[in-house]
Amino acid sequence: MSMDAMEALLTARRLTEGVTPLKTDCGRACAHACCQPDETGRGGMLLFPGEEQLYRGLAGYRITPYTALEIPALLLTCEGQCVRTERPLSCRIFPLLPKYKDGSVRVVRDRRGFEVCPLLPSGLGAFRPEFVEAVRSAGEVLYQSEAHRNFLDQLHKLIAGFVL
Ligand code: SF4
Ligand code: SF4
Repeated sequence: MSMDAMEALLTARRLTEGVTPLKTDCGRACAHACCQPDETGRGGMLLFPGEEQLYRGLAGYRITPYTALEIPALLLTCEGQCVRTERPLSCRIFPLLPKYKDGSVRVVRDRRGFEVCPLLPSGLGAFRPEFVEAVRSAGEVLYQSEAHRNFLDQLHKLIAGFVL
């Protein structure tokens, strides 16, 4: 049975709310590289299906269409600082991603993150086990929703083409 997309999203956001990639502030070494806009000033984070509804009326965000996926998607652009409770799911799980493979949900490194995140080359062992587990648990829930499953499938298809 497919889980309601919003219920799955809210659960996944809750599961990843308080956990950070490292015990210490991982942004200290990289000056929060993943929160800085790219050289075009755009950057942005992909929203999970329905997540745009949570940003209605919130100041400091812009939502624009993202056309590189084979399904309609939206990109959230921020001002490089945000309240933790407002962080989109993509930011909460960055630079990892859940991936359904061979009957179970695993956690993989997000190839899109290699350019910015100094932790990624060291492998999953560079991250707090609690963080990896939170990303996996969020994935367990997301993959029960058809909308999020499609989104993640499309996303993995896209980033498989990224060269490391
Ligand atoms: S780029 Fe990596 S190390 Fe830096 S803040 Fe983001 S997740 Fe942490
Ligand atoms: S929404 Fe917040 S966590 Fe995400 S990139 Fe912007 S400032 Fe960083």
